[in-house]
Amino acid sequence: MIIQNLLSIIFPRTCSVCGTTFYFDSTTQNICNTCLDNMEKLEGLMCHKCSLPLQDGGATCRDCKNNKEIYFDVIKSPYVYSGTVKNLIKKLKYLKRTFLAKDLAIQMATFIIKEQIYKEIDFIVPVPINWMKKIQRGYNQADLLAKEISKIINKPIYSNALIRTKYTKPQFKLNKEKRQEHLKDAFVINKKYIDAIKFKNILLIDDVTTTCSTVNICSKILKENMSKKVIAVTFARAIG
Ligand SMILES: [Zn+2]
Ligand SMILES: [Zn+2]
Repeated sequence: MIIQNLLSIIFPRTCSVCGTTFYFDSTTQNICNTCLDNMEKLEGLMCHKCSLPLQDGGATCRDCKNNKEIYFDVIKSPYVYSGTVKNLIKKLKYLKRTFLAKDLAIQMATFIIKEQIYKEIDFIVPVPINWMKKIQRGYNQADLLAKEISKIINKPIYSNALIRTKYTKPQFKLNKEKRQEHLKDAFVINKKYIDAIKFKNILLIDDVTTTCSTVNICSKILKENMSKKVIAVTFARAIG
């Protein structure tokens, strides 16, 4: 403890967003409370299925209405994918700031508890990345988030229940049809988990929802293998 205190004086931690120093601070936060408060929350009228903001209200967005190709039960996110939130995800994903996973996961877990999602689910599955990408990056950010969430909400995690077989390019450059085509066969179920996921409610975790395609294709595979419900929570959601 003394050593830790000394270290925090010599090498004080700073907020990853604004750079404010946490002197003599016993917290292990990497984002200060002011910056946490300033992040844009996803609130207001939104699609009950995919959480897309709806200016004029209504239950579902155009894409979700009567769409038989949607396999997830709901996608929810505490934050909008913009500004600080976007930067934090980039730091976690591409700049190896893996220590941020805990900070982001705490916000996600708080949201999961507030929305009472934890009551409904049996276990957690992160959206996987391809093994080649994992070697390049060294980690799967969704898995880091899911592991931290698992500790907080006290639910088991099956990190390898889904396997990403294809090395896929970023999808935001593709239109809707191309995205679906691109992701087709990109994921498979890990045979070891076939019995475990049957008739169970799953919390699917990812860092961001840009389109719903990735969550949808993962949900499709889980449902084809008899999972009951798939509730997806991502740290942020793109809204435009
Ligand atoms: Zn700050
Ligand atoms: Zn929708």
